Amino acid sequence: MRLVILGGPGAGKGTQTELLCSYLSIPCISTGDILREAIASQTNLGRLAEPYVEKGDLVRDETMIEFIRQRLLLPDVTKGWLLDGYPRTAFQAEELDFLVDEFGQKVDWAIYLNVPDAVLMSRSLGRSRADDQPQIVQRRIDLFRDRTIPILEYYEHRQKLLTVSGNQPPDQIHQEILKKLMANG
Ligand code: AMP
Repeated sequence: MRLVILGGPGAGKGTQTELLCSYLSIPCISTGDILREAIASQTNLGRLAEPYVEKGDLVRDETMIEFIRQRLLLPDVTKGWLLDGYPRTAFQAEELDFLVDEFGQKVDWAIYLNVPDAVLMSRSLGRSRADDQPQIVQRRIDLFRDRTIPILEYYEHRQKLLTVSGNQPPDQIHQEILKKLMANG
């Protein structure tokens, strides 16, 4: 199965990603985690991403699209994957479809964790990551609304969007996601 998970900062994507990947036995690719690690070890990708990540801005589409192309060529992902934090723009969503099409595959579902902005803010501030300070979080929430909402429309239009309330305990969210995945085959 090939899945993407969408939601604002603090929507619970990380937790649901872990639960789903272990339940479905598929690798998860979390672009935010990968970028933070790349920045910490100052790889080429890290150096390209750092000025954006530290301000809460989106890394350039070209950088991300090329990264995902290389990542999805590795042998651990031939049987499926879950992308967490990707796509973040409609352009990335389109390019992802072109890419999987080239590989003779498709994205099965986009799972959207729907959480009110106030909850996104308070959850993010409860973490202690460098990019979780109030102004940066607000920037990330604004960007999420501006840039990611068109992605929801993109998947909705293709009848691939599963919306789940992210404002409930993690295990209930997980159960609801599984129920929707099963119901939709
Ligand atoms: P996350 O942990 O998913 O919230 O991502 C942390 C930061 O990494 C974001 O604020 C962006 O700066 C960057 N980032 C992660 N994924 C992407 C992406 N698909 N496109 C652009 N920037 C990204």
